[in-house]
Amino acid sequence: MAAAISVEDLWGRALREGRPAHAYLLVGEGAEFAAREFLLHLFCEDPTGRPCRRCPPCRKLLHGSHPDVRWVPLEGGGARIGIDRVREIQKDARFQPLESQYKAYVLPEAERLTPEAANSLLKILEDPPEYVLFLLLARGLRLLPTILSRCQIVRIRPFSTRQLAEVLARQGYSEDEIRYGLALAQGIPSRNVRLLLTPSWLGEKPLQRREALLSEIPKLCPTELAERFSQTEDPVEEHETARALLLQLTGGERKPHEVLELASTLARIPPEKAELFLWESLRWMRDLLLSAQNAENRVFHRDRLQDVRAISPRWSTESLVRAIHRLERGLSALQANANAQLLWESLLFQLGFPGARNSRRL
Ligand SMILES: [Zn+2]
Repeated sequence: MAAAISVEDLWGRALREGRPAHAYLLVGEGAEFAAREFLLHLFCEDPTGRPCRRCPPCRKLLHGSHPDVRWVPLEGGGARIGIDRVREIQKDARFQPLESQYKAYVLPEAERLTPEAANSLLKILEDPPEYVLFLLLARGLRLLPTILSRCQIVRIRPFSTRQLAEVLARQGYSEDEIRYGLALAQGIPSRNVRLLLTPSWLGEKPLQRREALLSEIPKLCPTELAERFSQTEDPVEEHETARALLLQLTGGERKPHEVLELASTLARIPPEKAELFLWESLRWMRDLLLSAQNAENRVFHRDRLQDVRAISPRWSTESLVRAIHRLERGLSALQANANAQLLWESLLFQLGFPGARNSRRL
């Protein structure tokens, strides 16, 4: 397949060709975000050619209420896209668009089309009405070859941290908000994209949401924090519960039985979240180390500098370096499906017990 491209490149190609293709297959982690951005380009009324996110079509798209755009929902708890859905699309596609030149259908997770649904979709892909546009989203190319042959296949470039900062700036966020957004995404490409698709962040007041959480979560005990972290879908809450937990773990002596209980809670969380917690832990320990080394200008958690300064002196440089190495090994062990309970016990004992206090600041 061709080299991965950005959504702007894709839009530029559609402009050069005079109109978008009837069907695209967008492949990669950022496919859903790319689909939304592509539709913003297509429907925005702003003469500059860049989506303004303010005109009526942009606003309707961002709120999921544009009458000419259908995001086809998955059925059976997200398991599949069945033939009934595709028949609905076929019927619906006969009607002209209401407000614009195009009518767009987005099929997230196109791999989940059942074989009957895929065959039925093929009929409309072979001879679509002039105004119809399909955006099929997928992680890979495990689709009927006949479907693949009807789509322009586009591999979406992984979404970099720099791109995230650019998009947030374009959306009008302040420097503080952008910095906070980058902290939530933790530099992980799939999270860079996820952030932009999350309602709480799109609610435009992420820092207010943070303040509300900060008045509530510090009262929770480590196990309660770990539960909240594992259950929430909101990146702001994920980040703040993880930080509150790390603050408690690294900032005060824990009792061994508390650490064991916390380990069994963390051992039950899904691998993707476990990985996120390890990334959060790594950044946190690195900040304690930077503060100890008088390199606070490089601290990641700038908005928590007071806490970083308060906790850093409890740790010796050696124990911080040891904990960071242990966390890095923990990440590889997690990816290799190590025994989660044992892994968390050993990691948490490392984080919860800094060892001999260093006298350098006393
Ligand atoms: Zn617009």
